[in-house]
Amino acid sequence: MSELAFFIDYSRCIGCRACVQACEECDTHRGQSMIHLETIERRDTVQTAPQMCMHCEDPVCARVCPADAIKQTPDGVTQSSLKPRCIGCANCVMACPFGVPKYEASIDQMMKCDYCFDRTSIGKKPMCATVCPSQALTFTTREEIERTRRGRPINEWRFGNEVVRTKVFVLVPPATTQVDVGLGDLVQIRAGKKASHVRPVAKDDVAALLEDLP
Ligand code: SF4
Ligand code: SF4
Repeated sequence: MSELAFFIDYSRCIGCRACVQACEECDTHRGQSMIHLETIERRDTVQTAPQMCMHCEDPVCARVCPADAIKQTPDGVTQSSLKPRCIGCANCVMACPFGVPKYEASIDQMMKCDYCFDRTSIGKKPMCATVCPSQALTFTTREEIERTRRGRPINEWRFGNEVVRTKVFVLVPPATTQVDVGLGDLVQIRAGKKASHVRPVAKDDVAALLEDLP
């Protein structure tokens, strides 16, 4: 059987927050959720989108950390910051193109999703994927996704001239090969004026993706 991977299908998110609750209950991060439920453009749509660490192949958060506090495991999981090393400078918070790491002032440390490493390293699903009732968050094989969904799983993003590949996949309309995040979006995300990299999706695209709902 092929490797298990994490797939996000934004079109299936119903905004129930089960993923957030499940993540909060995990002891390894002190009752805080490491997955965030974002709204896209409240003026245009009620669609919500779960945002977790995408586990970049070449994580810029780790590259910009002056204290070498963010480690990547051999199988491509970018860990949260190491307490003895993190100096709370928030460089990683500013650098991440997906707006993932959060600086936690109460402990003067960055915290982020670590792919439920304690679970996934022994073949268990991450907590969020275990509870998601619409399977917007799914931990399974690529074959299973291709067999059961119409959306295409991709893990390549373009931010201006930079291409980022991630361990986590998102499901997009079949003709899409890369998610192009406009620089304008990126500036707004970093300025806190826009919650997510997720862009409003064309109505036809949503219709195409919704067709695979049971
Ligand atoms: S999504 Fe952000 S926090 Fe996660 S590995 Fe990539 S740069 Fe780091
Ligand atoms: S906040 Fe911590 S983990 Fe992030 S860049 Fe600074 S020292 Fe590194």
